[in-house]
Amino acid sequence: MLGTLLYGPRDVRCEEVAEPKILKPTDAIIRLSAACVCGSDLWPYRGLNEVTSPMAMGHEYCGIVEEVGSAVTSVRPGQFVVGSFCLSDNTCPHCRFGFQSSCQQREFMTGAQARFARVPLADGTLVATREIPADDLIPSLLATSDVLGTGWYAADAARVQSGSTVVVVGDGAVGLMGVLAAKQLGAERIIAMSRHKTRQDLALEFGATDIVAERGDAGVKIINALTNNVGADAVLECVGMNESMQQAIHCARPGGMIGYVGVPHGVQLDGQALFFSQTGMLGGPAPVRRFLPYLMDLVMERRINPGKVFDLTLPLADVAEGYRAMDERRAIKTLLRV
Ligand SMILES: [Zn+2]
Repeated sequence: MLGTLLYGPRDVRCEEVAEPKILKPTDAIIRLSAACVCGSDLWPYRGLNEVTSPMAMGHEYCGIVEEVGSAVTSVRPGQFVVGSFCLSDNTCPHCRFGFQSSCQQREFMTGAQARFARVPLADGTLVATREIPADDLIPSLLATSDVLGTGWYAADAARVQSGSTVVVVGDGAVGLMGVLAAKQLGAERIIAMSRHKTRQDLALEFGATDIVAERGDAGVKIINALTNNVGADAVLECVGMNESMQQAIHCARPGGMIGYVGVPHGVQLDGQALFFSQTGMLGGPAPVRRFLPYLMDLVMERRINPGKVFDLTLPLADVAEGYRAMDERRAIKTLLRV
């Protein structure tokens, strides 16, 4: 079958690879309905994480169960399923506390930019739909697997609620999903920080009420002006750079919360500044599994359309162009037809 391997910086290839097999009784094999490229795939692609041997890429997935291991009881062949990029048993103390992304048996999904994929811990990880979804729902269901689940977690961690004033830092796919999540959670005002017209338009479509194009101190100044010098109740940090994190902290009101889901690269926090800011922070890899059943229902009922975040669709064989387009910010997110 065709699969995606990263050989080194900016060297990603679609190649003939071995089909995955059941390795443990708790595994499932799924036939992907579609695949996609994640913003976090760009870290190793750009050489910011070392790649020592060809790495099987892809951790966002949905599809039809082909085969299950002997211990799997909650899903069966023929069902349509979505799983999180974090594989979890959904039974350990961390899972039961809603933090499946810190599961005591946690593994990270790989190899989903392919025709078939192996999903370990299938019982705890996969969520099946009641019926096979219509084809046009596939992009939105695929989005629940990571990008929407992560944006949703940012909003949940920042305690967005009815009437909240929310700032979203970052106009990548996750930030845009954060806007959608804040809207669904009842935010009254959603300020999206973005400099790019196409992303601003999508943010407005997903529910943003204001757009701020300025960054850094200039951006913070405008947020202050927009909030009568109070700051935001909730800030979603969806980038992971030092500048964006400082911006997020400075946009939050005392007592406000920052949900941070951009993987930090070079972020430095000043203990005293944080102390006197009186802001709360909760972040990390999103426990998507906690939100999956609810998010999948929203999609199946056509109440949200997160699949709009895919603005480039390519055949799997052209995966390299999918990475390039996102790396050069020509595309927000690439959907791969498998
Ligand atoms: Zn667990």
